Amino acid sequence: MSDLWQTAHPWLRELVSYEPGKPIEDVARELGLRPEQIIKLASNENPLGPSPKALAAMREMLERAHFYPDGGGYYLREAIAGKLGLTRGHVILGCGSNEIIEFIGKAFLNPGDDIVASRHAFVVYKLMATLFGARTIEVPDPGYAHDLDAMLAAITPQTKEVFIANPNNPTGTLCSQEQIDRFMARVPEHIVVVFDEAYYEFLPEPPDTLKYVREGRNVVVLRTFSKIQGLANLRIGYGLAKPELIDVLQKTRQPFNANGIAQAGALAGLLDDEHQQKTRELTWEGRDFLQREFAAMGLEFVPSHANFVLVRVGDGKRVFTELMKRGIIIRDMTAYGLPEWVRVSIGTMEQNERFLAELKTLPELARRAFA
Ligand SMILES: *Cc1c(COP(=O)(O)O)cnc(C)c1O
Repeated sequence: MSDLWQTAHPWLRELVSYEPGKPIEDVARELGLRPEQIIKLASNENPLGPSPKALAAMREMLERAHFYPDGGGYYLREAIAGKLGLTRGHVILGCGSNEIIEFIGKAFLNPGDDIVASRHAFVVYKLMATLFGARTIEVPDPGYAHDLDAMLAAITPQTKEVFIANPNNPTGTLCSQEQIDRFMARVPEHIVVVFDEAYYEFLPEPPDTLKYVREGRNVVVLRTFSKIQGLANLRIGYGLAKPELIDVLQKTRQPFNANGIAQAGALAGLLDDEHQQKTRELTWEGRDFLQREFAAMGLEFVPSHANFVLVRVGDGKRVFTELMKRGIIIRDMTAYGLPEWVRVSIGTMEQNERFLAELKTLPELARRAFA
C-alpha cells in the first residue's frame, strides 16, 4: 500500500466509489455510435427533459453567471416552504439531495457509530457512513421492501441515523403510512430518521412524513429536482426538517453549494404543475406497459412505485452489455448484490418499446418467454 493510503483516514480504503449510470457520451465513444442513436434508461431521469419554464429561467440566469449565487437560497427556499406550508427555516438546499446525506453524516456521525438501512437501499447512505468511519447495519428486506419493524429492532446504542428510502431505489417499493407511523411511535427520540423521498412526486397518494417535521421530531425529509423535475444535471435537491435541525445542517455546508442556475431552474420548475403532471402520466403509462410486458415474458419484477422497474433477467451484466451494444443503456445491479437483476428507467413510450423489442432479441430471454 502506498504511503498516501497510510496517512489517509483508514476507512477511506474501504470506500467503494459510486458507480453511476453510464453516460451517453461514453457509450457513443466506446462503441462508435452517434449519441442520437443511444437511449439512456439508466439513471431515472425525466425523458421529457426540464420544464420549458425552467429552461427559460436558467437561460436568463446564465447572463449572470459571473456573479456568485444567493448562498442563502432565499427565493427557492421560500417557494418550497410556501408550497408545503412550512417556513424557509425548515428548508436546506443541497448540490443534489445526495449532498444533504453527506451533511447529515458530517453533523452526526463519528467513527464507531452506526447507521441502519435496508438491505437493498440506495447505496449512498452506506458510502457516506463509511466516509465518516461509521458502520452500516443492513437489514434484510423480504420481498425487496423495507421491513421497518426489523429496522427498529436493528438499532444499537451506537445508531445515530436510520434511512428510509420511500419509494426505495433500486427496488421501487413503498412503506405505507401505517408502517411509518408505527415506526415513528417506537423509534428512540435521539436518532435522526431520514425519509428519502426522491420519487415522492410519482406517488398518487404519498404518505405524510412532514407531519413529523411539524411535530418537531428528529426527522429529515429529502426531495430532489433530479427526478420528476428533469434537472439532474444541475445538481439540486433539498432537505426539510425542524429549524433547529436545519441550523445544525447549515453549519456543515460550503457557502455556495447550490448554484444560481440550478436555483433559478428549480424555482421555475417547482411552479410548473403542468410539466410535472405530464411527466407523472407518462411514467405511469410506461410503467404499466413495461410491467405487463415483463409479466407476459415470464420475467419476475418488483412492482414499482417510482419511475423505474427492477426486473430479473438471469445474467444482469450480460443483458446490460448486450443492450448497450444496441444503443440502450440500463443499469446492472451487481453493485447492489442483485447480479440477476437489471433496473430500467421509464422512458418515452417510443423508448420503452425500443428497449423491449431489443430485450426480446436476447436469446436467453426469448427462450424464457416461449418456454
Ligand atoms: C436519485 C436519488 C436521489 C437524489 O439524487 P440527487 O440527484 O443527488 O438529488 C436520492 N435518493 C434516491 C433514493 C435516489 O434514487
